[in-house]
Amino acid sequence: MPPTSTATDRTAARFDGFGEDFPLEVPALHGPSGAGLLGRFADGSMDAFADTLAAVHNCARPVRLAGSSTTVDARTGEVLSTFRTADAPLGVLYRPCGNRRAHVCPACSRTYARDTFALISAGIAGGKTVPEQVADNPLLFATFTAPSFGLVHGHRGGRPCRPRRRDDRTRCPHGRPQWCTAVHEPGDARSGAPLCADCCDVASAVLWQWHAPELWRRTTIALRRAVAAHLGVTESGLGEHASIQYAKVAEYQDRGLVHFHALIRLDGPAAAGIGAPAPAALDGLMFAALVRRPRRV
Ligand SMILES: [Zn+2]
Ligand SMILES: [Zn+2]
Ligand SMILES: [Zn+2]
Repeated sequence: MPPTSTATDRTAARFDGFGEDFPLEVPALHGPSGAGLLGRFADGSMDAFADTLAAVHNCARPVRLAGSSTTVDARTGEVLSTFRTADAPLGVLYRPCGNRRAHVCPACSRTYARDTFALISAGIAGGKTVPEQVADNPLLFATFTAPSFGLVHGHRGGRPCRPRRRDDRTRCPHGRPQWCTAVHEPGDARSGAPLCADCCDVASAVLWQWHAPELWRRTTIALRRAVAAHLGVTESGLGEHASIQYAKVAEYQDRGLVHFHALIRLDGPAAAGIGAPAPAALDGLMFAALVRRPRRV
């Protein structure tokens, strides 16, 4: 079957975290520190400050380093270069904090988001070190969610939370309603809270959360075995025929449990490199069926 969009189409996908529609709020330029900027104009250190700000890519909380380093040719003992942080524009070496959270550092979180976008985009359509034919390999976007541990409130995109017809409104064994007609907005503190705390199986929820990384690990093992079985090869010999690539993020749901979003791609033999053509005996639909089928490991 021909692909519905070409690799070139998908490479054109844009990262919206930059550009005029998404101006970067640099905290240092607002609020009380703005007065400090005026001081820099007055004492002549504005150029050094601007250079430093550019060097850390506008990081809001750069790490300050002090010290020196000397590079010596191990063979001749010749000093090749020396660096002293005291010689840096502001007398201290600043490095970006690298924090991924936008509320901690708008600039570094964008750099992280952009890099992740480029990485994921290359994994889908090719680019960087990934060949373009990777776009022809089976690729799934799967969400792995915890089971229900009891009814909870939630925002439903402007719709009522848990509506029930009047003649269908039952109460739990503790006498609490199992319906909710409220429309919860995003950020509503009730979102994720149980309709009845006594009905909610909190102990199981905590255990599930604790074991989520191990559950994920076992899921990958099970999928590996399922793919090997489908291809009629041993698990240890799978690498000569196919490899499975993952890009996964964990997100918190309102009820406090993580769920995983994962891109799962089937590649050819590991030795043929990332994005090598996948085995013809396993198409996307069958690959999806193997991911869906639960197994014990
Ligand atoms: Zn930063
Ligand atoms: Zn509700
Ligand atoms: Zn109850």
